[in-house]
Amino acid sequence: MLAHWLEETVQEISKRNLTEITLSTGKTPSGHIHIGILREIIICDAIRRIFEKKGVNVSFYLFIDDFDAAKRFPYYIDEDYQKNNLGKPFTLIPCPFEDCGCESYAYHFGNELISTFKHFGIKNEIIWTYELYQKREMQEKIKITLDNTEKIKEILKKYILPTLDDDRKKQFNDMQKTWIPVMAICEKCNKIQDRAKDGSIHPNRAIEYLEKEQAVMYECPACGYRGKTSIYSGKLKLNWRVDWPAKWAIFKATCEPAGKDHSVKGGAYDTGIEICQEIYDYEGPIKLPYEWLRLGDQDMGTSKGIVFTPEKYLELADPEIYRMLILRTNPMKHISFRIEEIPQYHDYYEKMENIFYGVEEPQSKEEYDFYKYLYPLTKVNYTPEIKPIRIPLKLLTFLSQMQNILSLDKLYDKVISSLRINKTENTISPEDFKVLLKRTENWINEVKNELNRITDHKIIRSILNKIDIFAIPETVAMDLINNLSDKQLKGLIMFKNFLLEDTNIDADSIQNKIFTIAKEELEIPPRKMFEAFYLLLLGNKSGPRLGPFILMLDKEWLLKRLNQLED
Ligand SMILES: [Zn+2]
Ligand SMILES: [Zn+2]
Repeated sequence: MLAHWLEETVQEISKRNLTEITLSTGKTPSGHIHIGILREIIICDAIRRIFEKKGVNVSFYLFIDDFDAAKRFPYYIDEDYQKNNLGKPFTLIPCPFEDCGCESYAYHFGNELISTFKHFGIKNEIIWTYELYQKREMQEKIKITLDNTEKIKEILKKYILPTLDDDRKKQFNDMQKTWIPVMAICEKCNKIQDRAKDGSIHPNRAIEYLEKEQAVMYECPACGYRGKTSIYSGKLKLNWRVDWPAKWAIFKATCEPAGKDHSVKGGAYDTGIEICQEIYDYEGPIKLPYEWLRLGDQDMGTSKGIVFTPEKYLELADPEIYRMLILRTNPMKHISFRIEEIPQYHDYYEKMENIFYGVEEPQSKEEYDFYKYLYPLTKVNYTPEIKPIRIPLKLLTFLSQMQNILSLDKLYDKVISSLRINKTENTISPEDFKVLLKRTENWINEVKNELNRITDHKIIRSILNKIDIFAIPETVAMDLINNLSDKQLKGLIMFKNFLLEDTNIDADSIQNKIFTIAKEELEIPPRKMFEAFYLLLLGNKSGPRLGPFILMLDKEWLLKRLNQLED
């Protein structure tokens, strides 16, 4: 039995007996690129690490397909701007944001993604496809393609026809009669395709191959211009079913993951492999199919509405948690990433970490082997010799919501003293703590947004049961306090005296004291006493478990709050 599903691909790659391997991934920069793309990138990054450890030279590429045409734009792009630029390659479209100053639409969104890689521990090389098409090696592939159009048609036919119904079969055959797998950027309008009023897409496909002249003729469907372009002009692009294998052949791709849209029978991967072998004389990569990553119950799409970028993720959660999420899950299973489940992801990570460092006993040898394999692959930098210190998310959640009543120094002291209880020898710097605090605050705000969107009360309650969300008002709501009974008020004062007398309190003794006050001294249901505390501290009838919560508060602040009752 294999320790981890990645081993299956690793062994398949190893069978090729190579001293150098190439991993490749790709993305079209059609808008903000959502975090789902990191699934294939992180899988490849893990394979990179595994083979580098074996002493193999690894090239790992991300192709940013900026030669692709803009078929449509996302909703956040200005409408006039959309009209002007539809059908142009993304690299020839200016940045859509005023005052941004970057080179193009493609660069804007491509670089937004690329800039996050170092934070996720991803080490790859970027190939901008348009630049690649300016190079002789790619232009040679265009020539080979044009010389072999008939063969390519046969291959496509073989794979695609069986997947079509009769009507579409006829359509396909008709289309193939004049089909040439090369498109040109129109000299007049810069477009490479046109979208007709009915929404159908018409590529500016070559209509004739002038073999002697090493050029093609085209008639632009957008503006009607008839032009001629040399194979070596850099203005020609291969049809996407051919573009993919041409790149594989140039870079000798050993493995490339494929999202489920490309993995289907008769899809671009299958035809790509055969074209790669038959036309470009390279065996092609090992296919690694994978399912989508969803945001909650929704699919994400770069050109659609739902966008959750890697940049956004980094603002509110730990990149190692994300690597874990991708690498623990078999690629054939879809992942639903949920912001409100970040505490569960943390629990899993901690367990894995504890087992890795031998602090916790694994349930089985399989579990141990799996974590041993997985843990180092989730690290952004390196795997430390000793277990790194980890502030519990629960504690960070508490502290980040106390920033309005406690200074950063005081919050930091709280963390340090709690880590000392757990006898952790290494510590955390105030700067790092500040970053964690901010990230937790962002995450809680995002959970609150999520809660506002949810209408089902059951779901809201179950989220609130798992995440302690509260807000401490800076002043006591006196109208609420005035409604407390005499006994409740008396109980609060008794607790204040307990605080003053006892210096060595912990969460349990606080919890017990409140029970005793209620049951033995005042003879009221403890619930009433708890309510009184919540009203005083939070202006609310409920809140997080009181013992740990009160312990977290600053004693001085708490006494001041209690003193206000006697004013
Ligand atoms: Zn820009
Ligand atoms: Zn044109």
